[in-house]
Amino acid sequence: MQSPRTNPTGRAHSARPWVPVAVALASAIVSGCQPAAPTPPPVDAVVVVVVDTLRADALGAYGAAEAVTPTMDALAEGGTLFERCLATSSWTWPSTASLLTGKLPPEHGLIGKDGSSISPDVPSVAAAFQSAGWATAAFVANPIMDAELGFGRGFDRWEGTDDSWDEAAVPLERATAWLAERQPGEPFFLYVHLVEPHSPYRPTAESAVALDLPAPPSEEDLGAVTRAYNLMIKGAPYDQGAIDDFVDWRRRCYAAEVRDADLAIGELLEVLRRRGPLDRTLLAVTSDHGEEFLEHGLMGHGGQLYPESVHVPLILTGPGISPGTRVAERVENRLLGPTLLGLAGISRPDGLAAANLTDGEERDLRQDEPSLLHLGNGGWIEGGEYLIPDEQQGMVAGDTVTVRARVEGGDRAASHRAFDPETPVQTAASTDVDQVSSEFSKLRRPSTTAPLSEELERKLRGLGYNLGRREPR
Ligand SMILES: [Zn+2]
Repeated sequence: MQSPRTNPTGRAHSARPWVPVAVALASAIVSGCQPAAPTPPPVDAVVVVVVDTLRADALGAYGAAEAVTPTMDALAEGGTLFERCLATSSWTWPSTASLLTGKLPPEHGLIGKDGSSISPDVPSVAAAFQSAGWATAAFVANPIMDAELGFGRGFDRWEGTDDSWDEAAVPLERATAWLAERQPGEPFFLYVHLVEPHSPYRPTAESAVALDLPAPPSEEDLGAVTRAYNLMIKGAPYDQGAIDDFVDWRRRCYAAEVRDADLAIGELLEVLRRRGPLDRTLLAVTSDHGEEFLEHGLMGHGGQLYPESVHVPLILTGPGISPGTRVAERVENRLLGPTLLGLAGISRPDGLAAANLTDGEERDLRQDEPSLLHLGNGGWIEGGEYLIPDEQQGMVAGDTVTVRARVEGGDRAASHRAFDPETPVQTAASTDVDQVSSEFSKLRRPSTTAPLSEELERKLRGLGYNLGRREPR
């Protein structure tokens, strides 16, 4: 989606016409007395770390009470932190595909329905680096990110995982070996995807001890939780204590896994530092989505579009990035790719938004545009009922999210605040719902779809994912 206020070259206007001449002159005189800002050294390394399932408020830098992220917090202090960054969806496929293509899920096509895969017609950030002569590699610990879906496009080396949720040590070791093969001065784009803190939560013993994790709930406890949950969804009286204890245990396991991810990023930084100074290295840390802890009736992710699952961290460091800066404007991390390409001085491929998240004026202009969120189906809880929509379309305008759920028998819609996990759910204004429909109708959906191979479907089923072709049950 391009800003309507951009000129035909796609660049945001660089000057504001309303700046009074006297102010502009004074500014010119003052700046004329100042030494010119030093030009940052050219970028020759771009590293993107995606911490799967990392909600923004899990980081100390985003206000977490329990500080388990000293490495990411230090990166934020030395770089730029985006306080209000949105993923495009609340689960891995659509959101990570957006990170790698700059496109919204309906545009790139990987939405978890029949024939879902990343359309070969959409741009690829990795391919743009590759075309510019950069070495490109991805080391991915999430088994559902299969190269068959199009994730591997543009990477000289793509190493995923077959059927397990690899601990961070695996992609780190592979990335380290790949970095050791790089020649001095050879530019590279490195993508590392960690699955701590994605469930199943299996924190290291060190983090379990550090966070003093209690023993897991017994079978009996879990039975009580299930009974309480079923009553809660129906709006009937339920055992609040059973639910609270379970959520507390889950939250603590999650925090321990976040700590593990932070330690892994620290190790990766050490590997990079051992190669030499990082003054030409751009580093980005973000996530594909967050995690729900019953704030709005569900656990996990991929079911709804509330802040707990779409508000993600985004931290940038490196040449051209303002240190110690916190950006308050709403941004989307699908625009990270074009931003990194621009900072690295590489031409953006056709079809990729000419976006630069580090440009304050451009961010200002984008505040007038809505951000869109999408889910292929997910769940919808209303009036004690659990419904499965065909599709959920979300639109963030200002600080308000309107979600339209396409449900058999009639659409449902609700609104909430965009960056508050405790946000109450309200009735959506009909004009906002109409605008959601209108925004989604403008999107260009890919014309080609390819069903998943039987082998991949089998793998996904083994991992507990019922995706691709719907089988009679
Ligand atoms: Zn994910």
